[in-house]
Amino acid sequence: MIKSNQNFSRLPERYLFLDIAKRVAAFSKANPEADIIRMGIGDVTRPLAPAVIKAMHEAVDDCAAQSTFHGYGPERGYLWLREAISKYDYAERGVNVQPDDIFVNDGAKSDTGNIGDILSTDGLVGITDPVYPVYVDTNLMRGSVIRYITCNEENGYSGDIPDAKIDVIYLCYPNNPTGAVITRAKLKQWVDYALANGSLIMYDSAYEAFIRDPEIPHSIYEIEGARKCAIEFRSFSKTAGFTGIRCGYTVVPQELTVSDGRGGTVRLNEMWERRQSCKFNGASYISQRGALAIYTEEGRAQIRETIDYYLETARIIRKSMEEAGLEPQGGENAPYIWAKTPKGMTSWQFFDELLNKAAVVVTPGSGFGPAGEGYFRITSFADRDRTIEAMQRIKNIL
Ligand code: PLP
Repeated sequence: MIKSNQNFSRLPERYLFLDIAKRVAAFSKANPEADIIRMGIGDVTRPLAPAVIKAMHEAVDDCAAQSTFHGYGPERGYLWLREAISKYDYAERGVNVQPDDIFVNDGAKSDTGNIGDILSTDGLVGITDPVYPVYVDTNLMRGSVIRYITCNEENGYSGDIPDAKIDVIYLCYPNNPTGAVITRAKLKQWVDYALANGSLIMYDSAYEAFIRDPEIPHSIYEIEGARKCAIEFRSFSKTAGFTGIRCGYTVVPQELTVSDGRGGTVRLNEMWERRQSCKFNGASYISQRGALAIYTEEGRAQIRETIDYYLETARIIRKSMEEAGLEPQGGENAPYIWAKTPKGMTSWQFFDELLNKAAVVVTPGSGFGPAGEGYFRITSFADRDRTIEAMQRIKNIL
């Protein structure tokens, strides 16, 4: 009989959001009239920017004519998009990321999950906790050994620099789920650690567009030496509402090398190109044209307006949580607010209480890792009026 991948038995029984959906469905069935407000989702809710819509309509029209039709695109993504990314996301901030360092993809989940394909499973993998579950689950699936790097109030939710060697380190800032950001000084400590130990940092900056504080780094490549030790993941999902369109990109600097296991070194950029051209056939022409429109003057203004809307919603949530004594953090340069459960309740106890007594859905912190126990996450990707209503309901039951 064919044997399954035994590593799957190391995975948590079900994916966090499936668990939530199951409980919400049961509540809804038992209380059909309940007006449920969902503050737990990590999906955007505002429509795409008009500039993006226009560009995608034009791209569809291109595909309707023989002379402008587009089939398979270049392996790394269209050069015009990679040039725009290099110019507007990096050069404008004084950061060196070249079009040849960039791989356009169908969103950051695929690449953060697949990147392990180009590394050996021998190395110890360090993952900040609490954390976006994909890094943990995909490393478990491939048989890697994981060590959690606890993130808490004491270390500013950016982990203590390890005193022993960790080979691959996953960092995500602005952070999902805590909404924390990392200071330039702390990020430099991580880069220096990686350079000193020959480690590789996987830097997920999917929420970079929410940063408003000019002191907070947008990219790990703002730190000297990072091109030699870090891969960066970005996404148009939260930047521009592309969760349904699917487009993002990964930066694998040309000079980033690792051991080839035979006494030499190998360039990860080359390996990732090989991996992508084998297993991935590119983001669609239409979504890449949509992504390009984000970098036009009107596109940039429009997406900024949408993010400002979410950030204002985040401010309202944070203020309400403060008033309720739930010690919130995040939500200032990130769409997520992370708060303490009241009365020593576990994350799932508070989840159930909020669902049953207030018909409000949040995300239990423990679903993001052991350090998330006793916390919950609220997202600002919700309608403003519904958010205000949800905040009132929460205050009423506390
Ligand atoms: N990285 C982080 C930290 C996320 O929170 C998400 C989505 O919620 C992703 C990556 C994946 O985004 P996408 O695949 O839509 O680009």
